[in-house]
Amino acid sequence: MPLIYEGRCSACDYISPSHSEGYSAVILDEPSESMFADPIDRRIVILEHPLELHILEEIGCTDWSASIGGRMFQIRHVVCRACGTMYNLRRLTTWFGATGCLVMLLPSILIGVCVGWQSNSFSRGLISGWLGILTLATAFEVVVGQFIRLRYLDRDKEFGRGADCPACHCKKYVSFRPHLWRRLRCPKCRQNSVRVRMVGKS
Ligand SMILES: [Zn+2]
Ligand SMILES: [Zn+2]
Repeated sequence: MPLIYEGRCSACDYISPSHSEGYSAVILDEPSESMFADPIDRRIVILEHPLELHILEEIGCTDWSASIGGRMFQIRHVVCRACGTMYNLRRLTTWFGATGCLVMLLPSILIGVCVGWQSNSFSRGLISGWLGILTLATAFEVVVGQFIRLRYLDRDKEFGRGADCPACHCKKYVSFRPHLWRRLRCPKCRQNSVRVRMVGKS
C-alpha cells in the first residue's frame, strides 16, 4: 500500500497537495481506453497499486516487455530544497518484478551455496545468497535502466522531466519519506516551517 504524504506549514496556512512517493506507468504509442490512462495524456497508463499486473495484462504487456521495450516509466514526487515547491521527476525505468527476481535467484543460490560450503556455515551461506540477490538486482536495474534510457532517448526526452524545480530551477530536492523529521522551506511564507507527514494510504 503506497503511503500518502502532505506538507503543512506551521507559520501560515499553506497545505501542499497530497501525494504518494511516486508510482510507475507504461507509455503506449496510441491513446488508451483503459480506465487507468492519464486523463491529460491517455498514452500514459498508470500502474495503480495493487493492480499492476492486471493493468499490464489489460494493455497487452508484461513487466519484462514494458521494461525492455523502453515503455516503463517512473514518476517520483519530491520537494525542492530551495523553495519548498512540490513537483515530480519522470524518467524511463525498468521494473522486472517477479520475472527479475527469478532471473536473479539462480546466481544468488549459487553464491550462497559456494559461501556456505567453503565456510561450512549454513547461516553465512544464506546471508551471502540474500546479499547476492540484492546486489545483483540493484546492479542489473541500474545498468539496464541506463541502457534503456539511451536506447529510447527520444521517448525519455518527450515524457521525462529532470530535477529542475519548475519554480526556482534549483536541482536539489528531497524525496518524502527520509525527510519526515526535518522542516522544509514553505513556498508561501518562505520560512523553514513545513513538515511532511503521512496522512493515509492509497
Ligand atoms: Zn524551487
Ligand atoms: Zn508558510
